[in-house]
Amino acid sequence: VLLLSSMIDRKQLSSNHPFVTPHTIQSIVHSSIANMTFDGHLCFNDVQYAAKDFGNRYHLMPSAVLHPKSVSDISSIIKYIFDLGLSSELTVAARGHGHSLEGQAQAYQGVVISMESLRVPKMSFHTGRDPYVDVSAGELWINILHESLKKGLAPKSWTDYLHLTVGGTLSNAGISGQAFQHGPQINNVYQLEVVTGRGEVATCSEEQNTDLFHAVLGGLGQFGIITQARIALQPAPKMVKWIRALYSDFSIFTKDQELLISSKNAFDYVEGFVIINRTGLLNNWRSSFNPKDPVQANQFTSDGKILFCLEVAKYYNPEESECIDQEIETLLSALNYIRSTLFQSEVSYVDFLDRVHVSEIKLREKGLWEVPHPWLNLLIPRSSIHEFAQEVFGNILKDTSNGPVLIYPVNKSRWINSTSLITPQEDVFYLVAFLSSAVPSSTGKDGLEHILTQNKKILHFCGRPHLGIKQYLPHYSTPEEWKAHFGTHWEVFYRRKLAYDPLAILTPGQRIFRREK
Ligand code: FAD
Repeated sequence: VLLLSSMIDRKQLSSNHPFVTPHTIQSIVHSSIANMTFDGHLCFNDVQYAAKDFGNRYHLMPSAVLHPKSVSDISSIIKYIFDLGLSSELTVAARGHGHSLEGQAQAYQGVVISMESLRVPKMSFHTGRDPYVDVSAGELWINILHESLKKGLAPKSWTDYLHLTVGGTLSNAGISGQAFQHGPQINNVYQLEVVTGRGEVATCSEEQNTDLFHAVLGGLGQFGIITQARIALQPAPKMVKWIRALYSDFSIFTKDQELLISSKNAFDYVEGFVIINRTGLLNNWRSSFNPKDPVQANQFTSDGKILFCLEVAKYYNPEESECIDQEIETLLSALNYIRSTLFQSEVSYVDFLDRVHVSEIKLREKGLWEVPHPWLNLLIPRSSIHEFAQEVFGNILKDTSNGPVLIYPVNKSRWINSTSLITPQEDVFYLVAFLSSAVPSSTGKDGLEHILTQNKKILHFCGRPHLGIKQYLPHYSTPEEWKAHFGTHWEVFYRRKLAYDPLAILTPGQRIFRREK
């Protein structure tokens, strides 16, 4: 309806003003925006970088990039565009660190807001009983980690990679190995400041503007631009025991993973990954794991079989090392991994959390970071995971994968349900992430076309309704697919869009609503 109504009005507008073509309307609008004054600045040149992202497959050139220095910069440009009403088709996208996969932070011929320029407020800590930090939404999680550690604190829930912005991950969910215990990052936020698609600035929380708060969390940037967030903190440990163990049987692997997430006091982090026909069994680009006994690790061969690697971590402080070892021993004794394949490492808390960055540096040196990344992320109900694994690991991907394949369960009972994030219905579901890198201009099995075909096959299989599978970081091309993704939540999502961004100005790169002439 949003799309339809804007089309009708745009036609009426053109017929009322026969000499005003859409192109001239657009230029008038651009020149009027150029005349606005900001605390930061608006750039019409050097905007190419905003047409790029980590996925490196979509390149939509904006007209301008706003580098805001204040929240009022953001609200004035959105309010200005909102007040133009249907005479403009300008859209606005917040760009965090640009680590989207399919152009979600891009705005074709629109205005991209570079959120990292927004440095207000300065990080401010509350160290009372329920500690938190107020941060600008353009802040990188890695900076929040370093600053919080100075107070002996840290956020509770993370992503595997920390060079992402607060606004970017809160618009999705922010899921990692702590999510079984604390929920995703969107469940660990006390309060947000948001600029809506009407240009209004609002503070929201569980107590104040609750509907907006829930809408924006996991809201794919559709309802407002997050400018500030209040993130929950907890006391930070100094060290981490980081453990990997292999399984050849998928059922035993998942049984153990599910056992571990059912207890709050077991490990602090539970993940896992699939090893398909790979050398360097225990290392992959996604982490910097160095087992204490690398010789033993390299001796183990899989005979070409698919293996499953459990990855767990226990936080501790040096003075607790011995009793933590005993605790770990007890926890591990209940598991059924291949006994000769237990690998342990001890690293600082920062090194553990920032583990993917080490690989990023190595890949950048070899020019392998900025290749196309046709990633596919799925949320799979526990009841479907075996059928999924049989088809995908036993058939579609049986000889090779082009990057890490993560697989780990989370426990939804510890997640807040009322946000915009769509998850499967069941209490336990798995995050399965195919983190493929494509070799540029290859036409072989490591090339983009081949990987996209594999992804399509996986998605085709996942479309069987009885499986109840949902995409995470979802990407669809048609309104019907989006409606199917949201299912019974579509009405709420749509109502919230009408309330907070009725002209569909915000975040066109998600391709859910379209602003049209
Ligand atoms: P961008 O890509 O810039 O933006 C993402 C979306 O949010 C866009 O639609 C954008 O318009 C919107 N947006 C950005 N800022 C705001 C704001 N302030 N207000 C409103 N909307 C906004 N995700 C996980 O959950 N767990 C992981 O472990 C994980 N690991 C990753 C590892 C790597 C190497 C990469 C590249 C991505 C990973 N992700 C992971 C995915 C990541 O969370 C998302 O891609 C996230 O969107 C990236 O954050 P960003 O700051 O780069 O956001």
